[in-house]
Amino acid sequence: MKKDLSRRSVLRLGALAAAAPAVGTVAAGAAGAATGGAAAAAGVAAGPLETSLPSLPVADSWQVRPFTLSQVTLGDGVFKEKRNRLLNYAREYGPSVVNGVRDDKRGPDRMLRSFRVTAGLDHKGVNPIGSWESPDGNLRGHFSGHFLTLLAQSWASTGEQIFKDKLDYMVNGLGECQDALAAQAAQPTPRVAGRNGTAIRFSGTPNGHITGDADVIKLPAGIVAGLSDFTVAAWVNLAVRDDNARLFDFGHPGDAASDTLSRMYLSVHNGGGPRFGITTSGSAGEQRIEATTALTAGQWAHVAIVKSGGTGTIYVNGVAAGTSALSLSPSDLGSTSDNWIGRAQYPQVNIKFLNGLVDDFQIFGRGLSPEEITAVVADAASAGADSRVAWYRFDEAPGPTITDSSGNGRHGEFFGATDGRRHPGFLSAYTEAQFIRLEEFTTYSGTGIWAPYYTLHKIMRGLIDAHHLTGNERALEIVKKMGDWVHSRLSTVSRDRLNRMWSLHIAGEYGGSNENLAHLAAIETDPERSARYLVAAKAFDNRRTVLPAAIEDRDVLTGIHVNQHVPQFTGYLRIYEQDTEANAEYYTAAQNFWNMIIPQRMFSHGSAGGQYGAAPGRPANTNPELFQPRGDISESLHYQSATSGSSSGGGETCSTYNLLKLTRNLYFHDPDPAFMDYYERGLTNHILGSRRDNDSASDPQVTYFLPAHPGATRGFGNNGTCCGGTGMENHTKYQETIYAQSADGSTLYVNLYIASTLTWAEKGFTVTQVTDFPRQDSTSVTIDGSGPLKVLLRVPFWATRGFTIKVNGAAVAGTPEPGTYFALDRTWAAGDRIDISMPFGLRTERALDDPQVESIFNGPVVLPALNAQRAWRTFSFYSRLKLDGDLTAAVTPLEEPNFFATHGHTLRPLYVGINEAHHVYYKRVEPKVVFGSIDSGVSNEARDDDGDSFLDKVWAAAPFQGHGEFVARVEAVASDWQAAGRFTRRERQNVIVAASKAQSELRVE
Ligand SMILES: [Zn+2]
Repeated sequence: MKKDLSRRSVLRLGALAAAAPAVGTVAAGAAGAATGGAAAAAGVAAGPLETSLPSLPVADSWQVRPFTLSQVTLGDGVFKEKRNRLLNYAREYGPSVVNGVRDDKRGPDRMLRSFRVTAGLDHKGVNPIGSWESPDGNLRGHFSGHFLTLLAQSWASTGEQIFKDKLDYMVNGLGECQDALAAQAAQPTPRVAGRNGTAIRFSGTPNGHITGDADVIKLPAGIVAGLSDFTVAAWVNLAVRDDNARLFDFGHPGDAASDTLSRMYLSVHNGGGPRFGITTSGSAGEQRIEATTALTAGQWAHVAIVKSGGTGTIYVNGVAAGTSALSLSPSDLGSTSDNWIGRAQYPQVNIKFLNGLVDDFQIFGRGLSPEEITAVVADAASAGADSRVAWYRFDEAPGPTITDSSGNGRHGEFFGATDGRRHPGFLSAYTEAQFIRLEEFTTYSGTGIWAPYYTLHKIMRGLIDAHHLTGNERALEIVKKMGDWVHSRLSTVSRDRLNRMWSLHIAGEYGGSNENLAHLAAIETDPERSARYLVAAKAFDNRRTVLPAAIEDRDVLTGIHVNQHVPQFTGYLRIYEQDTEANAEYYTAAQNFWNMIIPQRMFSHGSAGGQYGAAPGRPANTNPELFQPRGDISESLHYQSATSGSSSGGGETCSTYNLLKLTRNLYFHDPDPAFMDYYERGLTNHILGSRRDNDSASDPQVTYFLPAHPGATRGFGNNGTCCGGTGMENHTKYQETIYAQSADGSTLYVNLYIASTLTWAEKGFTVTQVTDFPRQDSTSVTIDGSGPLKVLLRVPFWATRGFTIKVNGAAVAGTPEPGTYFALDRTWAAGDRIDISMPFGLRTERALDDPQVESIFNGPVVLPALNAQRAWRTFSFYSRLKLDGDLTAAVTPLEEPNFFATHGHTLRPLYVGINEAHHVYYKRVEPKVVFGSIDSGVSNEARDDDGDSFLDKVWAAAPFQGHGEFVARVEAVASDWQAAGRFTRRERQNVIVAASKAQSELRVE
């Protein structure tokens, strides 16, 4: 574990009386800032009954374990204020009150709407959610999954009944949808009246060109292998004469992007009539026959393609309608694996599916003569019997099997929305089509697919949370069936194909689906079913590039999607936990991956990802959701400042959500305080700052991006988007990492200084923390209960101005070191009190790639400068410093905690959720070696290997006890500077003389 975070340029500077508001804002009882609604008025229960809840799976490999959400309640403070705004949304979304009448089902009904429509159930007339949750949106359902988690977390946090009622209602609604979808899938596909007996009805291209909603038939592999001459003949009755719709297409998997497909096909219409094509090198190498007789919609027509010798002929109704030389034969295609009736190889968005009836589809192993074709038109059985390869009459009973009547046993399989062959556990707000198309490498395009397994992850996670956080058993049944369905789909997909699927940008984004499946494996008691869940979890391994590179500690992150990849590594940890020896590489990968981001790609508020410019061998990137190059912080900010919209860039809020989740899970395995230093940074800055400080019943009022470039703004809202979804979760689980316990229960970790109460019934302790942190730089922890317990207090990396601990008023011996835990190992008595003071102090942090680009912090709190200009702010501090080196000489504290002013700008903590343009970073400009108003005339622009200027080096030693100590420091650094060739002898002399003259300038007043 690297502790680079504490290596940043840190100025240890003055105490800030203004940062310490009075203690004593604790109020027991009802949720203070919660607003509105009968439910709020009905009061808050004492707390959820954690004893009755199913326990979360605990891995043997965890050195520390979390407490559940219901074991920790939030006390008053900024975290609870933000939390309560989301509780209000959870109660009131719908809206719950229309014309004075309250209906708490309206919100849940809106969340269920698309699920019910898909399952053919009554959607109760409610409006769709909108945004990414529009009725035809390809990500629909994801937000409902997050809403389940919101309700589960809200109930676990407060015990307020309305959340449980809404959650149970939604879970039951989803269960009804799952049952209805299973009943639909179990219905056999009907055969309809045909040309001869019955026929198959192909439904064409419903719902935006989606495979899986369209009916298709798959014939056995190699069905035309080895043939040189051949005939394919069938009756068709088109409902719609769609260009390019295929009667058949026999070939090999490929994709349209590279178009190296090897295939033979007959389309029902291209130009003048049907077209036959055959190729071993994509469309460019295609040999074609074009028929001049068009098929007519609504009429039966007989179509045949015959190859005999070097010539091919298309017949329509027994009459030759087009002929051409053909040198390619089916034998040139090898043994084709994907042989379809009714669709093309790997359709992309512009390819239509066959829309019409097909009857008596026959394949012969030679070219039938014109007379034989005439005979076959009159009677399908009358010719070619000696060479018949397969004959599909469609006269069999309804069901997925398409019988081969040739006697050769080459039965086909029918794939359709209702074909009785799908696994009954499927549940989504759309059909299985997107999952099927992903297996065909359909790319994210807005009209094809979005990210089906991402959406599935949210729904499954919501159900898992409903189970673990509220004890809902139905939720567990539903999600286990969904897990069975995932296994049924992915266990038949080859490893090569899976690798390619998960490498697709956005389309292959699967959230933490592997986390969900490994979670089910951990809690499932039937060993066979558990093993299947683990197989399904590992099916999500991203083995093409990212996982193997992470295992080998090769950094390949530049230009890949941040939020697509971070949650995969939380899933890898879950897989590792199932068998730590066999799966050791997953843990290695997760550790390495984290270190590639923190701090290498981390902005000061904790997020990662952004635009960047072109460089040799690397194109520019204008998508702010992608990882920027390693170490590229200021470069990315510069580029965003020039190219980005004001409210994009600087990291997606989802990405920080997932980085915190990964961090927390790594921490369970290795309780390194560096993990919690990062966790505190992301939580206290990006996450707190992502919620606007006003209530809304219609919208979670959270950010998508939280941009850090000059003059950036926050766009609050996001009902229906990814960040709206994770945003609902972020603010209702602030308590989850405040405390942790060692695996043996002997040690309590106090990780975060957030007002809260931990009820640790198992050990008989109740731990109450009272603080307004981060608006206060101290906390008090009261322990109720008695007995031995080791308490580890986290000493934050930024606590360089001291971290003093008193127990029952008496100072504790020892020197707490920043970036460590400090142990209090004793036998406690009820009412024992620990008081901790951790003066914040102003400090600056440089961008990794530019010593002049900085953020300023007060302790853990980043302080953006408010200003709407898109140009960089330039700040100079050194000329104003006194011997104590306290930055407050240059940056003036204002009345409110964590508010300051400098250079005519207000510095306001990012957690204040008001939308004004800000500068999270500014340029530090210190061109001359000056002490107060005394200018040495020497340039301060030379830098050492760490990027430090002469003045950086001098002031790093502050505070100074007296002027003599200061001059000695200047002399020592100037001598080093001269020895390194950065100063001449005269320059060295000049800076020492100037420092000597500055006695009154530097005096602390
Ligand atoms: Zn997002």
